Amino acid sequence: MSSAVTPVTSPVIPKDAAAMILLRDPDDPKVFWVKRARTLRFMASYHAFPGGQRDAGDHEIPIENIPHSADEMTGVMRVAAIREIFEETGALIACGAERLSAERRAELRAELAADRITFKDLLAGEGLTLDASLLKEAPRWVTPASMPRRYDTRFFSAWLPEGQETEIITGELEDGEWLRPAEALQKWIDGDCVIVTPITVAMQALSEGVHDFAERMLNVPQHERDHWESRVEMRKGFYLCALRTPTIPPATHTNCFIIGGDEMVVIDPGSPYTEEQARLDAVIERFQKQGRRIREIIITHLHPDHIGGVNHLAKKFNLPVATHRLTAEAINGEVKVDRLIEDDEVIELNEQSSGLTWRLRALWTPGHARGHLSFYEERTGTLITGDCVVGFGTVVIAPPEGNMTEYMVSLRRYLDLPKLTALMPGHGPVLADSRGKIEEYIAHRLAREEMVVAAMTAGARTPAEIVKAVYTDTPAAMHQLAELSVRAHLEKLIADGRALAVTETEFALAV
Ligand SMILES: [Zn+2]
Repeated sequence: MSSAVTPVTSPVIPKDAAAMILLRDPDDPKVFWVKRARTLRFMASYHAFPGGQRDAGDHEIPIENIPHSADEMTGVMRVAAIREIFEETGALIACGAERLSAERRAELRAELAADRITFKDLLAGEGLTLDASLLKEAPRWVTPASMPRRYDTRFFSAWLPEGQETEIITGELEDGEWLRPAEALQKWIDGDCVIVTPITVAMQALSEGVHDFAERMLNVPQHERDHWESRVEMRKGFYLCALRTPTIPPATHTNCFIIGGDEMVVIDPGSPYTEEQARLDAVIERFQKQGRRIREIIITHLHPDHIGGVNHLAKKFNLPVATHRLTAEAINGEVKVDRLIEDDEVIELNEQSSGLTWRLRALWTPGHARGHLSFYEERTGTLITGDCVVGFGTVVIAPPEGNMTEYMVSLRRYLDLPKLTALMPGHGPVLADSRGKIEEYIAHRLAREEMVVAAMTAGARTPAEIVKAVYTDTPAAMHQLAELSVRAHLEKLIADGRALAVTETEFALAV
């Protein structure tokens, strides 16, 4: 099942960005984080440090005391960080800002937000200057190649200037909060926030002392940082390895999850490519060196991009394989399954040092595939969705393996879960706006269904005719997949008594 040849993928080019770790109260230090709006297309409802992309005008703004560096962006990215933090929080880290009243700062911020003034003119008009030495440099991070959007983000840290307060103007941001770094970490452990690695790592370093945290972070050797990126700990005990797989565009990777503490399970090691398998091997070897035991490999469903690395991993580490009976039957001869997972079964994983338990409840969620399993971690409200919901792109419901009626039932079952704090999908980014995303999926399918009915009312009779009428936003190359989707909708309409099959390829609305 492995191949030495890897297809060429071109990752998205990262954009320059700056973020600020804003601190206050040196005696009882607190850090500021924001919650991104649920309406954003990327990292919706994530917690993050304030910041954003470099602006074309940032180059024109002078800044003093730039540290010596071979990096020509050293100055301009500090300017970007200072401008962004002013726009997003109202904190103005500039020499002379102490002369401005809170009202004046708010006025200037509104002028800037409305594009009535540039940041450069604002500074000049008020006689303010920027000083790079007010900012400490923290590590720089680049979004992993598997992500649909990528940023090359420079992190800085600064103290909130005396006499200033932060204020979030809702829009792109939903909320802002000052909290102790240890409190932020606890939320991460409990599943009460979704954050990316740079934030987790910064919070860990900050909780060990804020005064030299940046230096300590910068001293972390590159191989250690590479390791963090090779398996992103999305929340405590939920490790995500995005592995390149032959999957359906726009996805290029399949998410393999390693979950637990002293005992762990590996879900969907899907890559058939040798070098991707080696990356996962290294992650697992490291867990084993820490004294952790991998209990078993779990497969969510039968598709090649979810099982492509199972045989290799099972053999290399002598691991049993577990999945749903229907999946086991379908992949019989390809992958040897040692244990069947029943609907509602709970897999319990413990960690002695922290006293934490991960309780993964198996949910049989057919629709994308007959034997599809999802896993619901009860303590944190984390849902491993497999291909039932994905981080970007769409879920293919292709009969006979796919079934639209069952798929809708599975999505509704998700909504019935008592607490949902994150969806960890088989492809793309982790989704923090869990219920919103599931509701969006249901609404999207129901809207498509009505479009199919409308196309049939207008005279379309075959799946191909319906695709032409309904999938006007889909490139022709995808029409074959769309036709399978239409067949899935037709099956559901027939099951609901709203349509009937006239012949094998012709359909009509029930009267
Ligand atoms: Zn799939």
